[in-house]
Amino acid sequence: ERDFELEGEETNINVVVRCRGRNDREVLENSGVVVSTEGARGKTVDLSMGPNALSNKTYHFDKVFSPAADQSMVYDDVVAPILDEMIGGYNCTVFAYGQTGTGKTYTMSGDMTDTLGLLSDAAGIIPRALYSLFGKLEANETENTVKISFIELYNEELRDLLASDDSTKLKLYEADQKKGQGATFVQGMEESYIRSAQEGVRLLQEGSHKRQVAATKCNDLSSRSHTVFTITVYTKRTGETDEDWVVSGKLNLVDLAGSENIQRSGAENKRAAEAGLINKSLLTLGRVINALVDKGPHIPYRESKLTRLLQDSLGGRTKTCIIATISPARSNLEETISTLDYAFRAK
Ligand code: ADP
Ligand code: MG
Repeated sequence: ERDFELEGEETNINVVVRCRGRNDREVLENSGVVVSTEGARGKTVDLSMGPNALSNKTYHFDKVFSPAADQSMVYDDVVAPILDEMIGGYNCTVFAYGQTGTGKTYTMSGDMTDTLGLLSDAAGIIPRALYSLFGKLEANETENTVKISFIELYNEELRDLLASDDSTKLKLYEADQKKGQGATFVQGMEESYIRSAQEGVRLLQEGSHKRQVAATKCNDLSSRSHTVFTITVYTKRTGETDEDWVVSGKLNLVDLAGSENIQRSGAENKRAAEAGLINKSLLTLGRVINALVDKGPHIPYRESKLTRLLQDSLGGRTKTCIIATISPARSNLEETISTLDYAFRAK
């Protein structure tokens, strides 16, 4: 058990689980429910592994959302506190991790419809964060600037989901190596300055549409690619001596590739690696998080594009939340165990 209070400004990783309800296919094939949780928001997941309760396996997490938890509960419990940290100058990241079809995109983006400034009840974390951020900035009445970027990472290549010409491959390079800040810049990436939540939601819709179009042409793109939607906010502060300075904070909202890519191929399978079946960024992310949790001497950021991209937001004075998404059905039990084991290791 880790104590967040004692850790102070050290790396802070929060791990939560979200279980969706059974989908039509799972109901049709009579795949029983093997996941039990306590109420809409609990702390444990109980897996029914065999014929009797003795073979059950129980996991404890910072929070566990049952199928009864709606989008607003997930936002309020998980992201609302992080948004305040971000405005205060922290670099924060929220990951959705899990098997394809378990609700990563539903959780991160959900219904992106924006009707005259009103979101749908099924709106996910990104549209809610944009609305909440602008609401808070307006209430603060401080001078501020907000910019967003939206990129996709597939086969260790970056694509700009905001660019009008998205054929250009983006390049990553390290800035300020001498200072050892670890900030990585993406050369040629679009950064859109937005003045309202609606503008941000519109860009999210457009970028998601581009991803959809590309996914229909390339079979495994939607399950094997990661998307990173980043909101950066600069707020002006005035000190006691009337000197102004600018505080900047960042929130990365990451919809990860399907975790089944790691699980089926296995980390040690050389042939799978050669065939490009192993998702290098997903695998390295796990290693980076484990090294941060164990306070290891070497954090292998440089071993994948995703971890290089997020280097200034993982470790040090940052906040991270992993939302592990799972299916309740017996037919997915093996993947569910892998997902929960991965998530539990991050605690
Ligand atoms: P992933 O991105 O992990 O592959 P999706 O987010 O696309 O999965 O979810 C698969 C399907 O299940 C979608 O139709 C989505 O709307 C639905 N879904 C997922 N989670 C939930 C949930 N908690 N409540 C209602 N529908 C959900
Ligand atoms: Mg998805």
